[in-house]
Amino acid sequence: VVDVLSVEQRRLNMSRIRSKNTKPEMVLRRSLHAAGYRFRLHRGDLPGKPDLAFPGRRKVIFVNGCFWHSHDCRWGSVTPTTNSEFWSAKRQATVERDARKRRELEALGWQALTVWECELKTPEEVVREVVAFLARAP
Ligand SMILES: [Zn+2]
Repeated sequence: VVDVLSVEQRRLNMSRIRSKNTKPEMVLRRSLHAAGYRFRLHRGDLPGKPDLAFPGRRKVIFVNGCFWHSHDCRWGSVTPTTNSEFWSAKRQATVERDARKRRELEALGWQALTVWECELKTPEEVVREVVAFLARAP
């Protein structure tokens, strides 16, 4: 058998595959799909380009990384020791943009739910929360 990939190349490929499959958004998408829900991904015509959109219910879900979106958890409260001002300004801008996009969505009649990366360590609980959110009357 001729191995066409170098060891290094294979290592890169494997790391890419692994990071793709463990991505929190994928965990949620797979769970909801298995539960029978159908949705649209990253709709660019909606404010904030929500990760998941349920057009019939006018509901959207954002899957946010704890660090970038400054979640109130141990991963969200990390402050990098180098360039800390740069990072805190960048993260503050993200938090403000999130709030603005959410207001824009609500003004258009859409309801939004944020799912945090850290919560997806226990996907069953998140899926229950999402199912309740989707079932709720607008
Ligand atoms: Zn978190």
